[in-house]
Amino acid sequence: SIPLGFFGGIGGASKHGVLIKGSNYLEALADTQLVVFDKTGTLTKGKFSVTQINSVGISDKELLELAAYAEAYSNHPISLSIKAAYDKAIDNSRVSDVEELAGYGVKAVVDGKTVLAGNAKLMETNNIAFNAVSVGGTVVHLAVNGVYGGCVIISDEIKPDAKQAIAALKAIGVKKTVMLTGDSRLVGESVAKELGLDEVYTELLPADKVEQMEQLLTQKTGKGKLAFVGDGINDAPVLARADIGIAMGGLGSDAAIEAADIVIMTDEPSRIATAMKISRKTLGIVK
Ligand code: ADP
Ligand code: MG
Repeated sequence: SIPLGFFGGIGGASKHGVLIKGSNYLEALADTQLVVFDKTGTLTKGKFSVTQINSVGISDKELLELAAYAEAYSNHPISLSIKAAYDKAIDNSRVSDVEELAGYGVKAVVDGKTVLAGNAKLMETNNIAFNAVSVGGTVVHLAVNGVYGGCVIISDEIKPDAKQAIAALKAIGVKKTVMLTGDSRLVGESVAKELGLDEVYTELLPADKVEQMEQLLTQKTGKGKLAFVGDGINDAPVLARADIGIAMGGLGSDAAIEAADIVIMTDEPSRIATAMKISRKTLGIVK
């Protein structure tokens, strides 16, 4: 049977916007040693704004339109942001053969032309010569029928409570905080530095994230637990593999919310430390 005090703990956490799906996760939270975060949508808002358009051989307007059309069917935060910047209705009959390439970008046929929209890795794997850019933003390159068409620079913002969220975890004794991201080294490292994370791994494909997670799981000692916090977009397998899978409830995908052990309804990473404090207090009372 479940000690009555556990219900109080789960109820207390829910008052703070944290949905804990079972008393076993309340117990696990109290022993968390490592907290591993996804970047986009978890520590950052995941609502990018297009800050720059650098077209090559086509106009800026064409570049943005082709990117928006290639992204027509994607729900990735980057895709939603490009479509918001385009700000016109998309005629789906102009788009076919859509392929979403997790960790790379998208490929689609737009007006009969094959369009690639995504990161440097996507250009490299398709042998497209492109201009390397080193700006503080996520770069989405575009190629049309195998010819480079330029890039769009988009910037995300760190969530207002993210820095405090990391500091609060440290203050209650979490040994290590880590970020795993598919984004570039430039962007990933600057976010990690600003937030005071202990480790950051960048340019990871979904499978690389799982591999890195396996490595981190070996670092626990005693009863220590590893919590992973993500939004489920390109990180669902990692969310499932962690001792405690925590999903963002607002921005997160429905599948992630379903698969997660704990859901943060407010999307605020600082609620993790709050929930850990509640769990320890509850266990103190129960034991
Ligand atoms: P994160 O780990 O930061 O949450 P993802 O794994 O979701 O990032 O994506 C990794 C990278 O793959 C992005 O930074 C972007 O460069 C590229 N990417 C993924 N999906 C798309 C898309 N729909 N359009 C353009 N680029 C994309
Ligand atoms: Mg993500």
